[in-house]
Amino acid sequence: MRWSKYYIPTLRDDQSEAELISHQLLLRGGYIRKLASGVYFYLPLMQRVIDKFSNIVRDEMNKAGALEVTMSVLCPAEVWEKSGRYQTYGPLMMHLKDRHQHDMLLCPTHEESATSLIAGEVRSYRQLPLNLYQIQVKFRDEIRPRFGLMRGREFIMKDAYTFDADEESFARSYQGMVDAYYAIFKRAGLDVLKVESDTGNMGGKRAHEFMLLVDTNAGEEKIAACESCGYAANVEKSKFKDGSGVKPDSEIKEMESIDTPGAATIEEVTAFLKVDATRLVKTLLFVADGKPVAALVRGDRDLNEIKLKRALGAVELEMADADIVNQVTGAPVGFAGPVGLRQEIPLLVDPLAVAVKNCVVGANENEKHILNVNIDRDFKATQVVDLSEARAGDLCPECGEVMVVKDGIEVGNTFMLGTKYSEALGAKFLDAEGNENPCIMGSYGIGITRTPQAALERFHDEKGIIWPKNIAPFLVEIVPLKMEDPAQAEAAEKIYQDLTSAGIDVLIDDRDERPGVKFNDADLIGLPIRLTIGAKSLKNGKVEVKTRASSDMNLVALEDVVEAVQGLAETLN
Ligand code: ATP
Ligand code: MG
Repeated sequence: MRWSKYYIPTLRDDQSEAELISHQLLLRGGYIRKLASGVYFYLPLMQRVIDKFSNIVRDEMNKAGALEVTMSVLCPAEVWEKSGRYQTYGPLMMHLKDRHQHDMLLCPTHEESATSLIAGEVRSYRQLPLNLYQIQVKFRDEIRPRFGLMRGREFIMKDAYTFDADEESFARSYQGMVDAYYAIFKRAGLDVLKVESDTGNMGGKRAHEFMLLVDTNAGEEKIAACESCGYAANVEKSKFKDGSGVKPDSEIKEMESIDTPGAATIEEVTAFLKVDATRLVKTLLFVADGKPVAALVRGDRDLNEIKLKRALGAVELEMADADIVNQVTGAPVGFAGPVGLRQEIPLLVDPLAVAVKNCVVGANENEKHILNVNIDRDFKATQVVDLSEARAGDLCPECGEVMVVKDGIEVGNTFMLGTKYSEALGAKFLDAEGNENPCIMGSYGIGITRTPQAALERFHDEKGIIWPKNIAPFLVEIVPLKMEDPAQAEAAEKIYQDLTSAGIDVLIDDRDERPGVKFNDADLIGLPIRLTIGAKSLKNGKVEVKTRASSDMNLVALEDVVEAVQGLAETLN
């Protein structure tokens, strides 16, 4: 490809719309442009990246026996009404009406479509297992579209759906997808961590996420990991043993109300009462599907909202505002407690909060707390359930060693769906004995547009992008320093032809620009290998070869360039 005929609108300055380095680099490198919040154009370079990554995904999915299909993005509401998700999926779904006022949606995911596709058609166990996948656009009206392609409202996903006759066969299908995922991410130059995760609005039994670990501020997910036994889980799911080592009091004391002027937050109360935060139990008020609920966790622990949502089976969950806090407690924010609430609401209590004896809680009165509160004696829990977020220093639930917490970006996931969708949408088959059974299903996603951007959080330097070779838009950039010099132009053209004939993707910067401009652009767009053609080395029949990642430069004879590039590519990620 010739730069002069291509469209690479690079930008010199930082763009204010981009918070993340990866987003910044895609904008500045001329890869993407924004049309609206969470809606982007993919420019020619980005299109090539998407194609490269899609082809890796397609190849590995095909190898694993999955069959590519395309399911429509537009879907009638009825299909989603059958699973119940038309109501429960919430505001994330993009709705529309057709000209007959018929309710339609733009699919945020395709479990319903895939299941309805085979329902009534796949009738015998002999037709199973079946794995259907697509690489397709999805729509989600994300509450916080941000970070460029990381969290768009329109984005591309690879999604696959498996249908099996029994658990044993399903286990093989699931493992087949897990293996394919490792192979896909490895080819894309990314080492990923498979972690246990919440099943969320997908339903089903178990799920895993594939995380790209990052040390930038792009990690939207936190992972509790045990480096000793390999246990790893999203903190929204992670089990753990408390690592704080606190011991409960042995003697139960009488409740006592106490004034705490000016002390509302955990820090203020612990400072005022001169007690450790582990002696406090905080009462957090939420509104779950329109109704107030209270969640109690030990003073030093963070509540994880996904754990709470799961415990409640809620679709929508938000922190209660000051008005609701006041209605429920009769006090301003900061003094809620389980004893003497004005309204009877569900009280969900974390086991670590249950274990605190003689705890300090809010008194539901301004600037007052109660000492020596004990569960069962002083208040009753509606449910005792794990609500605390795992943190660094907690102990592994499997082996008891100390865990660490890492930041990650979710690039893919796999769900064990069970029979939720097959029962609801009638995807049933006759087994060998002639009995009718629902298919056992799995669903499997990979972010086709998110993953390459996520990769850039890892692969960049202060000058720009450093693409992993297999998802780079081109492997090589040829930079003739002076196009007006016929010798340089001719040598560049020859190398361009030789590399192209050898099946290597090449971009030649044939613009009449100063070398400085060309080098800056080359560093910014980040192609893995650069060939520089200048008068001096050309006199000796040589060109300069270097990788984007390293400053080492080699002189290579014109006739050896193809071999040198192939050899160098072998050594690159
Ligand atoms: P997240 O927790 O990040 O919102 P999710 O659990 O909703 O993701 P899935 O619905 O299973 O994810 O989607 C499969 C994959 O699609 C994700 O692993 C991610 O890579 C990608 N993806 C999900 N939502 C978006 C989005 N809004 N923009 C870009 N990619 C996305
Ligand atoms: Mg999501």
